[in-house]
Amino acid sequence: MTTAHRYETGEEWALAADAADPLADFRAEFCMPQHEGREIAYFCGNSLGLLPRATRQAVNDELDYWAELAVEGHFRGRLPWLDYHEFVRDDLAAIVGAKPIEVVAMNSLSINLHLLMVSFYRPTAERPAILIEKSAFPSDRYAVEAQVRFHGHDPATALIELEPDQANGTLSDAAILRAIDEHGPRIALVMLPGVQYLTGQALDLKTIASRAHAQGCMVGFDLAHAVGNIDLALHDSDCDFAVWCSYKYLNSGPGAVAGAFVHERHARTDRPRFAGWWGHEKSTRFQMGPEFRPTPGADGWQLSNPPILALAPLRISLQVFQRAGFARLRRKSQALTGYLEWLIHERVADVLEIATPTEPSRRGCQLSLRVKGPRESGRQLFEHLQNDAIVVDWREPDVIRAAPTPLYNRHMDCRRLVESVARWRDKR
Ligand SMILES: *Cc1c(COP(=O)(O)O)cnc(C)c1O
Repeated sequence: MTTAHRYETGEEWALAADAADPLADFRAEFCMPQHEGREIAYFCGNSLGLLPRATRQAVNDELDYWAELAVEGHFRGRLPWLDYHEFVRDDLAAIVGAKPIEVVAMNSLSINLHLLMVSFYRPTAERPAILIEKSAFPSDRYAVEAQVRFHGHDPATALIELEPDQANGTLSDAAILRAIDEHGPRIALVMLPGVQYLTGQALDLKTIASRAHAQGCMVGFDLAHAVGNIDLALHDSDCDFAVWCSYKYLNSGPGAVAGAFVHERHARTDRPRFAGWWGHEKSTRFQMGPEFRPTPGADGWQLSNPPILALAPLRISLQVFQRAGFARLRRKSQALTGYLEWLIHERVADVLEIATPTEPSRRGCQLSLRVKGPRESGRQLFEHLQNDAIVVDWREPDVIRAAPTPLYNRHMDCRRLVESVARWRDKR
């Protein structure tokens, strides 16, 4: 490995790397959870990001406005509720590489997936199919299958599933493109992840979208594990739509308001959609007329007036990303994950096998670790780590996922994780 010489196994090296980290101060902006009086080494930002300290005040501010202004809060206060979703728009567009008109914060991920499939999955008898991966996140799988049935098609023939073709359980670009070429004329929608939740593999969105468009397919991406994690250039990727959630790397809290992207070329689309009053043209929304006139862009897919108490954390969290700067975050992210990977190879290669691709452009911060040995050892290792104040997550039957995030993780956290695995091994 070309990076091997940059790292050392000793504690001094990790401490020095953390001391030299230009983003080190951001850690103090987050509430670090504790386990029996010890600060946790938290590797679950891919599942639920930590609470930024500023979030509590931002939510309290809205509660105060509600208490003091009541209905007037829609028009008064520092950030009037009527326009509140617009206060996150620019930062949201920046983090996914989109134009402001292409993004909206609304609902939750699975709901947005359905709403956008209503518009962008328009099957016909000749072209009924959706291309997905075989190991898609269950909610995505249920959603596409439900859409197929809703349109009167049979998932047995109208769901085309991509099987992982690599030894580590990932998908090669070639296999994806081959499937698009092979089934293209039958595919109405290509629906794939930005970063695969189990393996941590990042897909080449632009190449996939371009090949699928050449076959006349629509293209949607699920960015649940990509947003706030890898560089995204959604506009340039040219996909038709994308959806994501905000409680993972975006640190916006349990059940946070999710996001959606609709490419600019569909900004004034007359495609069918499920309409609601918040998607109506803003200037005439309150004339309360019977005819729905969608506001141009992603905003036109909104149904309801947004949950202000849930949007406040998203607004704060996006500001943290903005201040840190995504290029700097990504650089640190690659350094941390590269270090963790190297330490695993150096210290515990007999215990853990890394399923995530090695090339930095093909992954985000997460490493998916297969636990070697008898079946029960994975679960035992996971529990050992929990008792040692190290939070990773466990996916049956044998995968531990660890995601060092650049906003609040340190090299020392990575070292703590690997040394704890080594202690567990040495004890057995
Ligand atoms: C986290 C995640 C979800 C969760 O869906 P919600 O609607 O937010 O509950 C869905 N799909 C993928 C790929 C995910 O990673």
